[in-house]
Amino acid sequence: MIIDCHAHVFAFPKLASPFSKTTWLSAQEQIRIMDSKGVDKAVILPLSNAECCAEVQSFGEILYICECFPGRFIPYCNIDPRLPQRPDLITVDHFLYILEQYKNLGAKGLGELVARIPWNDPCMLNLLEACQIVNFPITFHTITPDYDGYGVLDYPGLELLEIVLKRFPHLRLFGHSPGFWSEISSSLRIEDKNGYPKGPVKEGGALVNLLRKYPNLHCDISAGSGLFALQRDPDFTWKFIEEFQDRIILGLDYGSVKNDMQHIEWLKKAKLENYISELAYTKITSRNISTILGLGL
Ligand SMILES: [Zn+2]
Repeated sequence: MIIDCHAHVFAFPKLASPFSKTTWLSAQEQIRIMDSKGVDKAVILPLSNAECCAEVQSFGEILYICECFPGRFIPYCNIDPRLPQRPDLITVDHFLYILEQYKNLGAKGLGELVARIPWNDPCMLNLLEACQIVNFPITFHTITPDYDGYGVLDYPGLELLEIVLKRFPHLRLFGHSPGFWSEISSSLRIEDKNGYPKGPVKEGGALVNLLRKYPNLHCDISAGSGLFALQRDPDFTWKFIEEFQDRIILGLDYGSVKNDMQHIEWLKKAKLENYISELAYTKITSRNISTILGLGL
């Protein structure tokens, strides 16, 4: 069983992205990629925040895709938490009113959260509190305020993330993006914070410190940000995977049919060559996400 925790899938993709010059993936294209890589199920993360580089998706669209391919997709919901965009979403109860409906309709979590507001913004805190109450994990992309792009705003060292990890101990947060993974090394230079730093990983990175301190933090290894961070220093990586095997989760994050995500091939090779255990491989590729989402697989 292989589960991809990070997919973006559209029922009717029509517009090309200025970045890839292709549309986002249709459900059929996503299924073809899953079949070619042996992926049994994929979590669909709706792109619904203002900054997402795509047409804003509805939960109805996500449910429709899930219904077209029974058993292959796991739906997440998404909400743009910002005021005054949503005057109906101000209090924790307002968020709960919406989230409970999503939950009853089958949603298993929330994401990808890419809203450019700080973790400790009052409307963000209300959304996080409501997610903790309904037991929705959140997949997030993070970025620094000085950098153009999408993502929850935080500073080098992930100091705002730590505030919410501490404040919401039962809220599971799945970290993703260059701004998250660059923090794996304490040698991080400010200019590399939102990029893909290479070279040896130095112990004491904020990401590692937070994983040790907060059991509610998890790592989504999707896209280049996750895979390159794991590939940059194998001596560090094998120890990292051994220590955090219960907290690392496979994701791919295809944004175009032109992408070629090599995460599964890399993990299989690492297992075959005995750098990671069979158990760690199973946890990363399916068991961890299955346990967190209560899939019973
Ligand atoms: Zn994504």
